Amino acid sequence: MKWKILKPLTLAFALIMLFSNVQLAAALQTEIIYTGTGGDVARNYYVKKYSPKTSLTSQVFQEARKGTPMFVFGNGSGRKVIIVAGVHGNELPASIAAVKLINYLSGRKINGTVYVVPFLIPSSTARSYRYWNGKNPNSIANIPGTPTGRIVQIARERNVKAVGDFHSTRPGGVPGRTSILCTRRPTYESYTMASYMSRYSASALIPSQFAGRDYPGALEDVCNLQGIPAVTAEVRSPHGYASSTTVAKSYSQMIGFLKYNRII
Ligand SMILES: [Zn+2]
Repeated sequence: MKWKILKPLTLAFALIMLFSNVQLAAALQTEIIYTGTGGDVARNYYVKKYSPKTSLTSQVFQEARKGTPMFVFGNGSGRKVIIVAGVHGNELPASIAAVKLINYLSGRKINGTVYVVPFLIPSSTARSYRYWNGKNPNSIANIPGTPTGRIVQIARERNVKAVGDFHSTRPGGVPGRTSILCTRRPTYESYTMASYMSRYSASALIPSQFAGRDYPGALEDVCNLQGIPAVTAEVRSPHGYASSTTVAKSYSQMIGFLKYNRII
């Protein structure tokens, strides 16, 4: 008796949910910015476990099979910033936090434009692998045609005003602690942005004097050398591992980055 009334209601509800999900999915603006890097990131236990279980997340995973996906929020105008994760495929908290951020930004009114690259090299993230073609991807951003070099190219071509590169660092590694790395010269805003993010996310502030000295070829350094303010955010976490705490910390570093840039 009760079921007779409930059944059409349930059906209507299911239809509304389906429709709204389709609407959300359709609103996700995607570009594949690099090919040959695609992979099934959902095969990674931690990525699957800690990413929000939404149709949007499924769409993000689908896109990552095709290559390096970049998701665009805002109407393409105003202040433009880019968030990159998964430069190292064994640093999982940042990639998961970026998927969380995509879910947060989707359908939200923001100032300016945000580009989010949650998996720079999906095939590496799929198997928690650190390298790309046998090389450390964060040492070759100065070489055109590499995945990190592609990010530099996009930042230049689209007049991006801030680059946030989100990593994790294993205990005992370098820097080995939750931190924001930046340089004072030649682009001082790297330092002011990092200072804000450090306070916002309770991360240590690690400034270097000159870009390109400590980490030549790092995405952050190459951007700063070209006058594009950039920071590297690190969360202390073992390689190939993530927890809700480390994901939350990386996410708060990303929110700090967006708040500094007055995007949200
Ligand atoms: Zn890294």
